[in-house]
Amino acid sequence: MEYNNLGKSGLQISRLSLGSWLTFGKQIEDKTSQRLMEIAYENGINFFDNAEIYARGQSEIVMGKILKKVNWSRDSYIVSSKVFFGSGGKYPTQKGLNRKHIVEACEQALERFQLDYLDLFFCHRPDKTTPIEETVWSMHQLIMQGKILYWGTSEWSAQEIMEAHMFAKQNHLIGPIVEQPEYNMFVRHKVEVEFSQIYETIGLGTTIWSPLASGVLSGKYNDKFPSDTRLGMEGLDWLKEKNTTLERLEKVQKLALLSERIGISLPIISIAWCLSNKNVSTVILGASKEEQLKENLKSLDYSTIITEEISAEIEKILNNKPDHPPY
Ligand code: NDP
Repeated sequence: MEYNNLGKSGLQISRLSLGSWLTFGKQIEDKTSQRLMEIAYENGINFFDNAEIYARGQSEIVMGKILKKVNWSRDSYIVSSKVFFGSGGKYPTQKGLNRKHIVEACEQALERFQLDYLDLFFCHRPDKTTPIEETVWSMHQLIMQGKILYWGTSEWSAQEIMEAHMFAKQNHLIGPIVEQPEYNMFVRHKVEVEFSQIYETIGLGTTIWSPLASGVLSGKYNDKFPSDTRLGMEGLDWLKEKNTTLERLEKVQKLALLSERIGISLPIISIAWCLSNKNVSTVILGASKEEQLKENLKSLDYSTIITEEISAEIEKILNNKPDHPPY
């Protein structure tokens, strides 16, 4: 495993990490979740990603129980939660980035995890109804209280991140160090263009999500719709529609031919492609089966396969390279 600083912070994060969205406490049994975490940890993964909304809090409960059971030294891993969507409550005070919900969401996440502190706490989406100042202050105070160590954002714009950063700087508060954006061969603009200035100015790190576009970039939807996968799950039609458009599937067919020709599996190529972007601090992997995780972990050994030639070939297939503004 390779480790690098998360943005300009001193936190050493593994280049691959493991997330629990839609799997822990939902799609897979707890014993599978445990095996996934064990395989990840044995292979040097030190970051486990979670959120209050995942399986409405159940994902954090499952992960917390596993962490208790395996009893790894608390200083050997990084665990996150995310605040914004709430954990299923119906009251207006149970979501958002206002001080009340941030403080309560943190307390509740710690309870569910049975942990004393979170290493990373993300604002899961921007909250247009709460002043950014209130959010920055609330995060800073949680750090001062020792309940979280670092904080970040997820799916914020560069402008929103910059605003939080500037407010923190002017008021000697601790600002966000990391953003968690979607990044894969289909979704590129934020990571490749929008954030390009703030990697340097702020020293922003990134923990990128859905490297396989929910499994589509593994190629398994090319011939038929497999049973027993995420995109067949009840209530996820929106995710299926987003990821299995004809345009995307046609590109994956072509990528599969490339994969066959060079003899490296498509999931490995797709993840190695994400890793080849130097502004990606860690690629958060998702897996519903042990074999998937073992396969995906190999992408680090193949990080050099994205040569200029292969990259150009992929670029030609994708035909979606985002334009940089002319300055
Ligand atoms: P991926 O796009 O990699 O999708 C993972 C899913 O793809 C697996 O659960 C599995 O689903 C399938 N899969 C994985 N590997 C293989 C393989 N080798 N062969 C075939 N199928 C495979 O990542 P996720 O979408 O899960 O995102 C990763 C993490 O990112 C999440 O767990 C979460 O922590 C974070 N995230 C954050 C978000 C945010 O808003 N901040 C939003 C979404 C995710 P199946 O077997 O069911 O097909």
